[in-house]
Amino acid sequence: MFKSIRWKFITIYFLLVFIAMVIVGVFIVEKFQENLENQITKNMESLIKTLFQISSAISSDDWGKVKDEIKGTVTQLSIDSSEKLYIIYNSKIPDMPEIIAADRSNESNFDNIIGKNAYEYGVLREDIIYNALKGEKIIKNDKVNMIKHLAYPVENEVGQVKGIIYVTSKLNDMHNTLNDSKEILTSATFLALLITVLLGFFIANSITGPIKDVTVKAASMAKGNFDQVVEVKSSDEIGQLASMFNYLTLKLKKTMSEVYREKSKLDTIFKYMADGVIAVNVNGDIIHANIVAMKILNITEEDINIKKYDEVFVNYNPKLTLQYIQRVNRWKGSHLIEIASSVYRVKFASFRNKNNEIGGLIIVLQDVTEQQKLENMRKEFVANVSHELKTPITTIKSYAETLIENGLDNEKLSYQFLDVINSECDRMDRIVKDLLQLSNLDYKQTKWNKTSLCVEELLKDSFFKMKISADEKMQSLNLTIKEEMPNVVGDKDRLEQVILNVISNAIKYTPVSGKIDIFARLDNDNVIITVKDNGIGIPENDIGRIFERFYRVDKARSRELGGTGLGLSIAKQIVEHHGGNIKIRSKYKIGTEVDIILPVQLSTVIQF
Ligand code: ADP
Repeated sequence: MFKSIRWKFITIYFLLVFIAMVIVGVFIVEKFQENLENQITKNMESLIKTLFQISSAISSDDWGKVKDEIKGTVTQLSIDSSEKLYIIYNSKIPDMPEIIAADRSNESNFDNIIGKNAYEYGVLREDIIYNALKGEKIIKNDKVNMIKHLAYPVENEVGQVKGIIYVTSKLNDMHNTLNDSKEILTSATFLALLITVLLGFFIANSITGPIKDVTVKAASMAKGNFDQVVEVKSSDEIGQLASMFNYLTLKLKKTMSEVYREKSKLDTIFKYMADGVIAVNVNGDIIHANIVAMKILNITEEDINIKKYDEVFVNYNPKLTLQYIQRVNRWKGSHLIEIASSVYRVKFASFRNKNNEIGGLIIVLQDVTEQQKLENMRKEFVANVSHELKTPITTIKSYAETLIENGLDNEKLSYQFLDVINSECDRMDRIVKDLLQLSNLDYKQTKWNKTSLCVEELLKDSFFKMKISADEKMQSLNLTIKEEMPNVVGDKDRLEQVILNVISNAIKYTPVSGKIDIFARLDNDNVIITVKDNGIGIPENDIGRIFERFYRVDKARSRELGGTGLGLSIAKQIVEHHGGNIKIRSKYKIGTEVDIILPVQLSTVIQF
């Protein structure tokens, strides 16, 4: 009904005061009227008493005999102007009570009054006279004419009513007084109500003001503005409410900032973590996906709102769909999926809602492509090693068996067989040595003997060591060093091993009469040694894998030439250990160029 507490308050106040004033007013008027009436009755009765005191005739047994005396006494009686007094004699004639006296105010009218039948005299009431004649004292108000009637029966010695003293009194004055009082009370009520409304307004304002303030500020707080302070003006309940509100605001602000901090922390973790994270509710709606997850699954923010989780995952692995998980009721697990040639481990687990029921799934996508690659490489490596060793072992075994079976009678053949066994043993020895060296490099077991090395000397030594091999194939091997080379810091034997490997590859994979050039130049802070040949070259697709262990473009050919397929991977590890690099450029059937890049600065050398 009332929208504002202020008006409710004022109305209640108004009604309370109004009801109180009305009750008090009615009570006062009633009491006042009763008092006034009693007073009038007392006056009338005291008039009768006075009459008895001053008139002995009234006490006479038969008023009929003392009519004149009574009349005389009554005429002399001084009475109030509002009162009238009549003496009615109970004559022996039935229905003829006779008026024998009246007060002085009737003097001019005595002829019409005295000796008349009281029943017929209009001012006096017949019923009152009738009852009074039976001996009953009657007091009655005539509200129409505003007159009070008192009929007092007077008895003789034998108890018969000899007559009635009849007094009337006008009630006009009393009514006027009562009306005045009512008017005063009504005015007082209005004034009180006016004051009440005004006071109520101010009091309500003092109560509703702070409440309104709290309401407005609470509304603002609901919109997220927590910098709300309510002025505390008192220490009463309202003041306590205000200070409680301020305390609540402070607490809420602190809690909200803590929640926000936690949320932003989580957001940052989700945003920058390397794994993709997706949260899904039980209805299959994606409720959260971090950038990594969106990138992996190739979905946009918009897709998250439109697409269902199952729609996204069903193509990768149906066992990851919510439908499947719900059916088998297994809410924790892990699967491998492949997306765009990358491998991901998808781990999922359920989370609970506030009712401690399953609320959905958290899915984490980990990129395990590298791991998988390494795992595959490891498997490949083991297979390669087994294969590389199995070939010479099989050869050795078969030749040895033949020798055992056929004896050593044929000396020449036996010698040839033993020569094969020997060279296969050499081959195994080379493989095992290379593997050991790689293993030492991998596990940092290699002992490095680093000194300052003259590049020119290093190259010349290698050149002369390989010259014989080149000459055997009638290849021209040339060394060109145009400028003066600074020294490099390194392990002489190992670096020589690298240079020899590269030159020997050039000789191996360059046909007879081919040309091999060795250059050295200074480029910024690096010494670059280049070995260039015009040999068979490497097909473009193989160049990227050339440094992998056991990788050979033409396995049979390499094996035939005594290669293990480990030379370049060892070379790369050694050069990288010196802080350098090794690069290969090649054109199939045209030739190959290998750069060995070594830093000059000692500081750039990585020390292990
Ligand atoms: P290998 O012991 O087989 O020579 P490497 O690791 O030294 O092993 O070389 C790996 C492969 O790279 C070789 O088998 C060969 O196919 C290719 N290769 C290396 N150097 C050359 C080159 N100068 N010309 C052509 N192919 C080469």
